[in-house]
Amino acid sequence: MRKMEHDYYDYEKLLEKAYDELPENVKHHDSRFEVPTAVVTIEGNKTLIENFRDIAEAMNRDPNHLLKFILREVATAGALEGRRVVLQGRFTPYMIANKLKKYLKEYVICPVCGSPDTKIIKKDRFHFLKCEACGAETPITHL
Ligand SMILES: [Zn+2]
Repeated sequence: MRKMEHDYYDYEKLLEKAYDELPENVKHHDSRFEVPTAVVTIEGNKTLIENFRDIAEAMNRDPNHLLKFILREVATAGALEGRRVVLQGRFTPYMIANKLKKYLKEYVICPVCGSPDTKIIKKDRFHFLKCEACGAETPITHL
């Protein structure tokens, strides 16, 4: 019994040491995770998301995948133009923000531990959200 307590203590120490040796950006990843607010402007019958690439980069996702999702969600056509996206039709900033939130929930944030430190992996024909923080692999039903 005495021995076990001792080992446990050492293990804690080891964890502490490992944590101390992590680079700063890994340690504070969660608190640093910030997705910029979409800058939405409406021009005639088009909606522009001016900082679209910045948003995709902050989420660490392919802008084309994010765009495909948005187009499907709002049922319109659109294209990447430099750092921005041009959507056919008029959409409010509120609506765009909601779709971005939905994307985060489905394709970025680990549902097990809440970490944004994830990537999309493919196994056989199936896609999973693989969490770098807790190791969970969550099936993605619709990519
Ligand atoms: Zn996780």
